[in-house]
Amino acid sequence: MKRIYKRTVAALLVVVLFVCGFGLYLFRYIKDGDEWVTFAVNRHAYTNGVLTTGSIYDRNGELLAGIEDGGRVFSDDYTVRRATLHVVGDAEGNIGTGLLTSYATTLMGYDLINGAYSRTGEGNSIYTTLDAELCATALNALGGSKGAVVVYNYETGEVVCMVSAPGFDPNDPPEIDGEDDRYDGAYINRAISSTFTPGSIFKVVTLAAAIENLPDLWDKTFTCTGEIEVGGEIITCSGVHGTIGIEDALAMSCNVAFAQLSLELGAEKIERYAEKAGLLDSFDLGKLTVAGGRYDRAPEGSADLAWSGIGQYNDLVNPLAMARYMGAIAAQGRAANPQLIDKVRTPLGLPGAITWPSGHTRLMSSSTADTLKQMLRYNVTSYYGEWRFPGLAVCAKSGTAEVAEGDAPHAWFTGFLDDPENPYAFAVIVENGGWGVSVAGAVANQVLQQLVYG
Ligand SMILES: [Zn+2]
Repeated sequence: MKRIYKRTVAALLVVVLFVCGFGLYLFRYIKDGDEWVTFAVNRHAYTNGVLTTGSIYDRNGELLAGIEDGGRVFSDDYTVRRATLHVVGDAEGNIGTGLLTSYATTLMGYDLINGAYSRTGEGNSIYTTLDAELCATALNALGGSKGAVVVYNYETGEVVCMVSAPGFDPNDPPEIDGEDDRYDGAYINRAISSTFTPGSIFKVVTLAAAIENLPDLWDKTFTCTGEIEVGGEIITCSGVHGTIGIEDALAMSCNVAFAQLSLELGAEKIERYAEKAGLLDSFDLGKLTVAGGRYDRAPEGSADLAWSGIGQYNDLVNPLAMARYMGAIAAQGRAANPQLIDKVRTPLGLPGAITWPSGHTRLMSSSTADTLKQMLRYNVTSYYGEWRFPGLAVCAKSGTAEVAEGDAPHAWFTGFLDDPENPYAFAVIVENGGWGVSVAGAVANQVLQQLVYG
């Protein structure tokens, strides 16, 4: 009896060990399977460290990255190559968020059930939501400046334009020396991974907080003499705006008015609205992660608090997150979640991956969205000038964000088209570009004109 008992225990132990071992293997397979296959010595998919399987197209079927004679090739248009570089990625894999790297398993046709099933060398095709020609227009409009341009459909979530500069020609990648300013952050997709001081575009967030928390907002008047003293410091304004109501305070981007609103609201409320706006937390863009922003609570009554509601102090926002916020204002408070991948096809033309509808996220109430929409339209019709955007119902806010002393400010322009036929939201940042409306607004107009009128 004793012997049988011992044997049973021993047999059970073996079973337990086997189950544990298999469980561990399964766990690691699910967790790390992607990395095992993408390990660059996997000879099925890589040649000399370059992924040589799978192709990437734009929304119109224009080839952005393909395979020719067993090697990686890119678009044959020089501008398109550079304009789509950060979304597509480079052959060497330096651009980590590029689809060639981040979607390597999708391009290979790897999945957990079948492994790397596409062994023809062809791999899968990823059709992005990008319009390559629009990206080229955006890159040209940046005119050699550093920055980012994002345009997305706030009904469907499709990102039709995403450009980051500086970049380079992936057919002729440069040897980048860390000191070389021309290639500063060239491997980073600023639209996805970077955050910037927002300057006055952040006033929309402070305004949203004021609309919902200050019942007398519409009766308030602000008197701007060009500056205001807060906590012993002088907050300067871009002009002398006289006595104005909240609509003109936004349109003229009056720092004196928004300093007063910030002090009255307090840091906690402003922070809460920045968070609700989706500007603080990171979020997913398929397999990629969009950078979260920053809002630091400054002490009550301080100049820092006043500046924090004006988009200065330690405030930081990401361009795509800003475009999504604008999309929410356009769409009754519910923004379509941005997406970059339209579909994946196997070499036989079958669906190569399940693509879920991107869904929506509510970032504000519909009544606040409607109020903000009217005010953003008023900015354009009353101050920026409709002549800057012929034939387009642009609703927007400009920003001129002060950065390091001695450097020109960052120029921002963010908003959307109030047009059911063309439901697009956008964010443009031109680093050290100068004045928001004239610099970043002009970039936005060139891209939107092409998008709407071809
Ligand atoms: Zn003012």
